[in-house]
Amino acid sequence: MGARSQRGEWAYAIEVAHLRKSYGDTVAVDDISFSVTDGEIFGILGPNGAGKTTTVECIVGLRVPDAGKISVMGLDPQIDRELLHTIVGVQLQASALPAKLRVGEILDLYRSFYRDPADVEELIDVLGLADKRNDYYRSLSGGQKQRLSIALALVGRPKIAVLDELTTGLDPQARRDTWGLIEEIHERGVTIVLVTHYMDEAERLCDRVALFDRGRIAAIGSPRELAEQAGGGKHVRFVPSAPFDDRLLSELPEVRSIEHQGDHVLVTGSGELVNAVILTLTAAGVTAHDVQLGSATLEDAFVRLTGRHLHDEDQVVQR
Ligand code: ADP
Repeated sequence: MGARSQRGEWAYAIEVAHLRKSYGDTVAVDDISFSVTDGEIFGILGPNGAGKTTTVECIVGLRVPDAGKISVMGLDPQIDRELLHTIVGVQLQASALPAKLRVGEILDLYRSFYRDPADVEELIDVLGLADKRNDYYRSLSGGQKQRLSIALALVGRPKIAVLDELTTGLDPQARRDTWGLIEEIHERGVTIVLVTHYMDEAERLCDRVALFDRGRIAAIGSPRELAEQAGGGKHVRFVPSAPFDDRLLSELPEVRSIEHQGDHVLVTGSGELVNAVILTLTAAGVTAHDVQLGSATLEDAFVRLTGRHLHDEDQVVQR
């Protein structure tokens, strides 16, 4: 653990090996290992209850693992907590902040925690909070609160920022703005660990993603690699004008799978999939309505690797 690269820097910003954590009978994290490379945006993606938060809480020293090893730039989160605090910025849950403090007061308070803090004025400028300095925390919009929580994660000039469920509850515009902000922070050289259950967020932002599922990692890779690993390729979804024999399509070399979803049929495969499917159906007297096309996504990868959907809560929470 914590090996230095030839350049004398840490080969990995974070190394986690065989991490385990249970709460009573609930195994939250079950033998998880991964490494985060210096300078990357690393996504931890998975449905609710997959063990994402527990994992990052162990990394930042807020929870004591039952077993396993963690190294954050060579530091052990349990032993070197104070030093770790100067290296890692953690995005707090918005509700943890006092409603009756003004934005500027909160930032000054956090600033006082650090020996060499960031320039708060610059930070609130970058985060678009300059005209909110004198506003009470409680008067901020959801997006503004979120930006403030990012600012607080960055006040200590961290080398690593851990951002948990950053855009949950934000409207689409605020989400996109927040994504832009993450990219800016990343360009400043900060390694980012992004916990999310939104695959579009992971796809857009992350260099690599670990797919978490029931306390384990189902796969790690770039969003593209994961989609390819899951069979890659394409899909076409449509409503057939009449029932047809699945074999008509399953015999096509382009087709990998056929799934009936209510009125819709989802066909996955590769090559000239869409042409092959539509032409074959037409030849059999069936018209495809409401045709939707797509390429494999992280969601597809998750479904293929785990047999469940990211947002299929009912299926996911049951063990
Ligand atoms: P995620 O962040 O992926 O939603 P968590 O790490 O929060 O997952 O939770 C993993 C599992 O551990 C869930 O089953 C959750 O109910 C349970 N859990 C999390 N925190 C606690 C806690 N403080 N006490 C008991 N169980 C917990």
